[in-house]
Amino acid sequence: MADICVEIKIEGVVQGVGFRPFVYRLAKERGLGGEVRNTTEGVTVLAQGTPEAIEDFYHQLVGRPPRLALITTHRIVSRPNQNFRDFVIVHSRRTEKKDIFITPDVATCEECLREIRDPGDRRYRYQFSNCTNCGPRYTIIRDIPYDRPNTTMHAFPMCPECRKEYDNPADRRFHAQPVACPICGPKVKLVDAEENPLPGLGHRQLKQGKILAVKGLGGFHLACDTRNAAVVAELRRRKKREKKPFAIMCRDMEVVKRYCLVSGEEKDLLLSPAAPIVILHGRRDCPLPMDQLSPGLHTLGVMLPYTPLHHLLFTDGIESLVMTSANISSDPLIADNAEALDKLKGIADYFLLHNRDIHNRCDDSLAAVVGKEVQLYRRARGYVPLPVALPGDCSQVIACGGDLKNTFCLTKGNKAYISQHLGDLNNYGNYIQFLAALERLQKLLEVRPRVIAYDLHPGYMANRYVASRSDLMKVGVQHHHAHMASCMAENGLEGEILGIICDGTGYGTDGMIWGCEILAGGYGGFKRLGHLEYVPLPGGDATVGFPARMALSYLYHFFGDRGVAFADRHLKGLSEKEKQVVIKQIKNQINTVCTSSCGRLFDAVSALLGVCTRSYYEGQAAMELEAAVNPGAEGGYRYSVERLGDCYRISSREMWEDLVDDLTLEAPAGLVAARFHLTVAEMLAEAARLARKDTGISEVALSGGVFQNRFLFQRLRDILMRDSFTVYYHRQVPSGDGGISLGQAMVANEVIGHVSGRSGSCG
Ligand code: ZN
Ligand code: ZN
Ligand code: FE
Repeated sequence: MADICVEIKIEGVVQGVGFRPFVYRLAKERGLGGEVRNTTEGVTVLAQGTPEAIEDFYHQLVGRPPRLALITTHRIVSRPNQNFRDFVIVHSRRTEKKDIFITPDVATCEECLREIRDPGDRRYRYQFSNCTNCGPRYTIIRDIPYDRPNTTMHAFPMCPECRKEYDNPADRRFHAQPVACPICGPKVKLVDAEENPLPGLGHRQLKQGKILAVKGLGGFHLACDTRNAAVVAELRRRKKREKKPFAIMCRDMEVVKRYCLVSGEEKDLLLSPAAPIVILHGRRDCPLPMDQLSPGLHTLGVMLPYTPLHHLLFTDGIESLVMTSANISSDPLIADNAEALDKLKGIADYFLLHNRDIHNRCDDSLAAVVGKEVQLYRRARGYVPLPVALPGDCSQVIACGGDLKNTFCLTKGNKAYISQHLGDLNNYGNYIQFLAALERLQKLLEVRPRVIAYDLHPGYMANRYVASRSDLMKVGVQHHHAHMASCMAENGLEGEILGIICDGTGYGTDGMIWGCEILAGGYGGFKRLGHLEYVPLPGGDATVGFPARMALSYLYHFFGDRGVAFADRHLKGLSEKEKQVVIKQIKNQINTVCTSSCGRLFDAVSALLGVCTRSYYEGQAAMELEAAVNPGAEGGYRYSVERLGDCYRISSREMWEDLVDDLTLEAPAGLVAARFHLTVAEMLAEAARLARKDTGISEVALSGGVFQNRFLFQRLRDILMRDSFTVYYHRQVPSGDGGISLGQAMVANEVIGHVSGRSGSCG
């Protein structure tokens, strides 16, 4: 049959992901003539051959693209036959450089994995193997354009074999910037604490119960055998990490399934190119020491190996390892060899180092599947610097984020680029990292900001940077307004909406500490329609680690001396002296502010039930309270929502009366914890109904760190949906403070009046 010629246009994420070599191979295999080229819109293919071959080619092209590609549209039209002698990749230097944006680091692909396991392959057991479908990206980039000399691979000139692969359009490593092999690429080195070199990768040492510092993609991990409770406890002691869960890395899915319950969506997330830590429910018969790995919780943070070096650690009978970020308490993640050898002395027994530099430190991302959807709790490796698409064009803005779980955000065009999780900026090392990352990302993305957005909290470290930028317009954004705007932005919303924002701490426009807020508004501004009743926060922010003090504050606030007497009988974790100090602080208003924080309410109830009276990491009391819930329990407590002035007051006074009754009757903690969660969901929903009545708005955004509580989130979402609300929530961006930089950017952009293409209503 006569040949035909077609033109195929493909749009989506199709550049810098090995798409042209893939097209080239498909065409060659089918004996087609033609060409493939990058365009400003995507990729255009001309193909000529028999109708059967063309049909099969098209089918494969759109049906089985490379794993990092994402085809949004494709079209095929017929063209006159041409004189193609071959199939070629057409290079267009001009568009190529500009359009290939920086991609996140990608977990090792199946083909690379097969090679490192094949004794006949030249990359057998090579720890740094990668290709266009996988390998390091963001963590090694020093400058743009994304070419090898601009990455930390500049130190490793390609050998002739690698060069051949790099130059060959038919090869999986065509233009893979970090391409390497055992001859020319980076190398690993195992040393002891005195830097004496040792053979191997440390399998023997791990099996002997030693702690290894392992240099990874975005930083170091501390690794040890998960099944050895003694070494896990020793790692806690050395790292001074009392209770915070340790993430683990499992050899493969089979091992994960032996430890945890895994849904289809959770499996897909574990195996995704981003390979985040996924929060899974531990099996009842999980053979690991759960009380050492995840104290007080039933969940485990699990990830799969995402570099060849990781895969190679899981041989010799090792099936899972603790893989916790190597830093000391809240210091920055350690990323270079000398720093690791110095700072981890006394923590790690051995060091598995390598000589490829990490330019951009990047923690592991943390995610969970809620219902059937992915939610990101910490957005870093594997996701950064992918942008979030915005509903309209934005001015170029820097948004500084908050001090806890900091990220910053840069906007350009209709995209927002959120930095990797940078941790608590009150730690000076983290603040330095914040400054460095901000500088780098501005350069990589070529952002020239006009405006800088910041949180209103007068004590935030990030605001020191703001003060230094006298060249920029400054826009202060209220914390919970930023949470709401962040949720709106990632859902592509404009116009006005309701917000239920529940978190730990945010500076209010009245100088109080807010944290359970019913808002109405959009990017341009907000009204506070309601909030949780103010209670004293004795000792201010210092109380956060002491849930029992918060419980006493609630008891005293609602019941006075009767509450104190109840605390004497039922509240654990407070010494007599501590009690007196707390009461005195409240009575005399010493070092005491008022708060409507939802996080502190969870803290108080967690302590009241004896679940958690002392908190060693942010959210611990609430997480353990959620873990205590008996999910089958029913019932709820009383509450009230009443209008005071122009604002609704959500009061938990009646709930506390019922709680006290239940505890007096010695009701099981699981039942009380469940009733508490159900009551909070009910009272938030009731406040939303009243807000809807007043405003006529029935779209509601859920944001704030408290919504990482899956039990609460799902109950509240279900109630609201049953009540005909349209509910929006976070998926791409954390609902906690890691997400507020995005909201700040949107508000700042609106304030200076540069959103285009606005629709005026919610989508
Ligand atoms: Zn690969
Ligand atoms: Zn090589
Ligand atoms: Fe917050």
